[in-house]
Amino acid sequence: MNQNNYQKVSKQLLKLIKQYDKIVVFRHAIPDFDALGSQMGLVSWLKDNFKAKEIHFVGDNHVTFTGRLYPKMEELKDSWFEQNTFLAIVIDVGSLERVSDPRFTKADKIVKIDHHPHEPGFGDLDLVDTSFAAAAEFVVTLLANMGRKYQFSKAAASYFYSALVGDTGGFRFSSTTKRTFEVAALLLSSNINISEIYQLMFEKELKDLAVQKFILDSYQLTKHGVAYYILKEDDLTRIGITSELGKVYVNMFSNIKEIEVWCSITEDKKDNCYRVSIRSKRYPISEVAKKFKGGGHKQASGATLLSLEELNSFLKALDDEIIKNSNL
Ligand code: AMP
Repeated sequence: MNQNNYQKVSKQLLKLIKQYDKIVVFRHAIPDFDALGSQMGLVSWLKDNFKAKEIHFVGDNHVTFTGRLYPKMEELKDSWFEQNTFLAIVIDVGSLERVSDPRFTKADKIVKIDHHPHEPGFGDLDLVDTSFAAAAEFVVTLLANMGRKYQFSKAAASYFYSALVGDTGGFRFSSTTKRTFEVAALLLSSNINISEIYQLMFEKELKDLAVQKFILDSYQLTKHGVAYYILKEDDLTRIGITSELGKVYVNMFSNIKEIEVWCSITEDKKDNCYRVSIRSKRYPISEVAKKFKGGGHKQASGATLLSLEELNSFLKALDDEIIKNSNL
């Protein structure tokens, strides 16, 4: 999409926003900074600029971000979705199944705004652009194109900034572009306090040190530089963390010279599987993620192993990807 197209789709989005008195903002399940920050950023922006409208936000909460960085999600009854005519805006999610609350399908019209590659489309206005480092970068670009009449409050800009930092690894991933910094600069012009945002995003507790100790004692490394750690249910219980938190430590390996790809593998007894987060310095990993019931971006993807019997073939696929691309 080029600049002219952003202006065009931004107009279409504004027209839809104006058309509906009731808007519900959705995003993907098991949310990260980008999902929650984009969702709450847009909710705040809508409330600030369209005071007469009824704006809602739904989905699952995050084990640690909720309460600290983002508010608890609303619990809207099924009857609300049955009785009201509303616009659904679904952010940072490409496939229908990954949307955190399936009731977006009850909407009169659906807008999707996403930056994930190669997902089959859905929605009446289906906006996908993989050139954006974060969904927030895309959303802010569209909102900024609506004109100066519409303002970013400090609260809205702070949410969007956390999302931008989250999906760019603090502006370190190669997906970060000049435009990412332009969007960050635009958000900074709303007088946000970035040191406060970083503190809220990355604050740790003493128990985190215990988890890091466990990971450093138990991680493994393949021949071609894939580091991984496994947190089984028993380990999680012993250390005192939930399975959702297992992946939080994955980037402990990001700056190690000998490590090219790194993964967290966390048992999820509820769904009887292992959830995998994969990160990479330079080699593409999303194709391997797709082969293992996942997907994502070139350097940050998620996957699922049905059991640890799949572990060797998963690691081999990553090693093979490194060998195949070793000229990169
Ligand atoms: P995670 O390791 O869960 O933080 O995921 C890393 C990135 O991959 C995020 O941008 C996710 O949205 C994306 N991702 C994770 N799982 C999937 C999936 N099953 N399909 C598509 N994208 C995914």
